Amino acid sequence: MAFLPISKEDLQNENIQELDFIYVSGDAYVDHPSFGHAIITRIIESQGFSVGVIAQPMCDADYLKLGTPKIASFIGSGVVDSMVNNYTSRKRKRSEDVYSEGGIKGKRPDRALMVYCKNLKKLFPDTPLIIGGIEASLRRLGHYDYWQDKVLPSILVDTNADLLMFGMGEISCLEILKYAKKGIPLKHLYDIEGTAYRTTLEKMPKKIKEELTSQANYIVIPSLDEIKKDKMQYVNAFNVQEHNTDNLNSKGIIQKNNEFYIVQNKPSRRMTEKELDFVYALPYERTFHPSYKLGVPSIKEVEFSVNSHRGCFGNCAFCALTYHQGRAVQHRSEQSILDEVSKLTKNKNFKGYIHDIGGPTANFYNPSCDKQLKCGICQNRQCIGTQVCPNLKVDHQDYLNILRKAREIKGVKKVFIRSGIRFDYLMYDKDKTFFEELCQHHISGQLKIAPEHICDNVLDFMNKPHNEVYRDFIKLYNDYNDKLGKKQFLVPYFISSHPGCNLNDAIQLAQYIKSLGYMPQQVQDFYPTPSTRATTAYYTGINPATLKPIYVAKDDEERRMQRALMQFQNPENYDIVKKALIKANREDLIGDGKNCLIKSKDKTKNQMRSKGRNKK
Ligand code: SF4
Ligand code: SF4
Repeated sequence: MAFLPISKEDLQNENIQELDFIYVSGDAYVDHPSFGHAIITRIIESQGFSVGVIAQPMCDADYLKLGTPKIASFIGSGVVDSMVNNYTSRKRKRSEDVYSEGGIKGKRPDRALMVYCKNLKKLFPDTPLIIGGIEASLRRLGHYDYWQDKVLPSILVDTNADLLMFGMGEISCLEILKYAKKGIPLKHLYDIEGTAYRTTLEKMPKKIKEELTSQANYIVIPSLDEIKKDKMQYVNAFNVQEHNTDNLNSKGIIQKNNEFYIVQNKPSRRMTEKELDFVYALPYERTFHPSYKLGVPSIKEVEFSVNSHRGCFGNCAFCALTYHQGRAVQHRSEQSILDEVSKLTKNKNFKGYIHDIGGPTANFYNPSCDKQLKCGICQNRQCIGTQVCPNLKVDHQDYLNILRKAREIKGVKKVFIRSGIRFDYLMYDKDKTFFEELCQHHISGQLKIAPEHICDNVLDFMNKPHNEVYRDFIKLYNDYNDKLGKKQFLVPYFISSHPGCNLNDAIQLAQYIKSLGYMPQQVQDFYPTPSTRATTAYYTGINPATLKPIYVAKDDEERRMQRALMQFQNPENYDIVKKALIKANREDLIGDGKNCLIKSKDKTKNQMRSKGRNKK
């Protein structure tokens, strides 16, 4: 059988009496390496264990259908935190869930990890629970929760799980399986890198107790109580977490959470090229389980895409990737990537188009510099962003070689790049061959790019390049496309209400958008997801990098103003944009002048009213 068992019939067909492990997933079962449950289950299988998948359980019968697992249950809430998946940034229920069958919402509970763990503990009280994935990873220590608007304890407290795998999880999973092979019970595994666990002072391993005073290998950060009471303490705790994400130079972390202690071991070591190649060569079906008659919409994004690397040294304030995958880029070998492309060409649905070869940032295929390969990523310095480190290695050659060879594979008509491109990194490369070939071969009419804002004070906090870099990039992009005789557009993404952005900044952004002569179809409102630098600033009003106060638009009306300003041409936004301009004393932007954002009267409304009267 190609897919892993999901039912009693599957177990009978495979002659499996009792599974070693079950994996409970908040996503529908899609056996594709862009889903955490697919990677972890295939790794478990590769080590000679039996494993079954229970996707999106709703009732006891769902949890019980594969029987009691002999060794342990793994639990992940999905590729996105369940609250982010279920709610918009304005805390409204989303209308669909692209990771569920038919995109139908409601199959994943809010705070899915807690729900799944509670039910598993009830039904299989003796089976160890191992949680992982983004929800576990970003909530592994005390953290601010936007939906409840308060600081919550580590998710280990609320799930009562025995172990938490943070980060991408392959190495820690393989370590756990080594213990399982030796027959060691998985309830009290204290030494595995890339994991965290909950303990009490009485049960704490002796060496960790010593760390409470020595702090030789573990840093004790402010307790849950302290970070709840004192926002500066929250920032201090966050900064330690943010700085300790690379195995090469990190320590473990200990945080008291009520009567418990959360012990986070240092992150897993980086994966070698060979190890990553192994993970991506596991026998994935690369699609959703055939029991989903309506399909799973998210497969469209990844079906003909190849993940070439992971990690990102961009370290943008609003992005949780640093905290989850880390800043150390790890990549697959060229051969492994090309083999996967060749395999895709044999798929019966393949039409000749590879949708993507990339990672979190497409053009960060290699680590940021040589020094960090030995010493680890710098904790108090950025590789790229507002400042550019003199040690940053800017080189697109390896990535370019992969793209060139992929283009030549029989059956491939085009190789697109859909993962985000860092335009500043493109600009810093003295050799512009990659830039030219990007325009020539890898764009389908428009390139999505994320300057995120145009005001340098906002960009500083985001750790994004200043606006002049973006302007230079636009010029060069247009020049190359002119030279190639191609009409290809740029679609810039901007965020509204990001910490550090006030109403005047939002108005400047609106003026810039006007100068571009287009209206963004989608606007991105800042979403305070768990454990980012920007979320820390949103909650505390403190810039974690400088420990100084930072402006935060929290008021609902101001957030709506900032968002509406990005689509000031939309007639529905007229009133709120006008209110925003008056509030900011920018009435000069209301009227018929060429710089004005809106007219002094909402003509659309008047026209609609008069049309209504004419109808009568
Ligand atoms: S460049 Fe992209 S992936 Fe990297 S930190 Fe910034 S937003 Fe995240
Ligand atoms: S030396 Fe520079 S490029 Fe290298 S890790 Fe440190 S900040 Fe990044």
